[in-house]
Amino acid sequence: MHNCEDFIVRNDDYDAYVCLYCNTFLEIACTDPECYFCVERPLRPYTKKQHKEILQEIAAAKHLKTNEEEWGKFLASFED
Ligand SMILES: [Zn+2]
Ligand SMILES: [Zn+2]
Repeated sequence: MHNCEDFIVRNDDYDAYVCLYCNTFLEIACTDPECYFCVERPLRPYTKKQHKEILQEIAAAKHLKTNEEEWGKFLASFED
């Protein structure tokens, strides 16, 4: 559906690369129990609300070829 490398950004909060599209870290956390970045690292870099906004921005910026209904369903899949 997409290539994570097209949506890769550096997330400074966790000092790690993330995919904006799938809201996942692209690097595994290190095993250092004292590591400042990894200790507090959540499962996902962004909250669902943040991620939804990011996806909307991506859609606007990239003009994804997705019809509105499908796009609505896709966004709804991120609702609680
Ligand atoms: Zn991805
Ligand atoms: Zn670390």
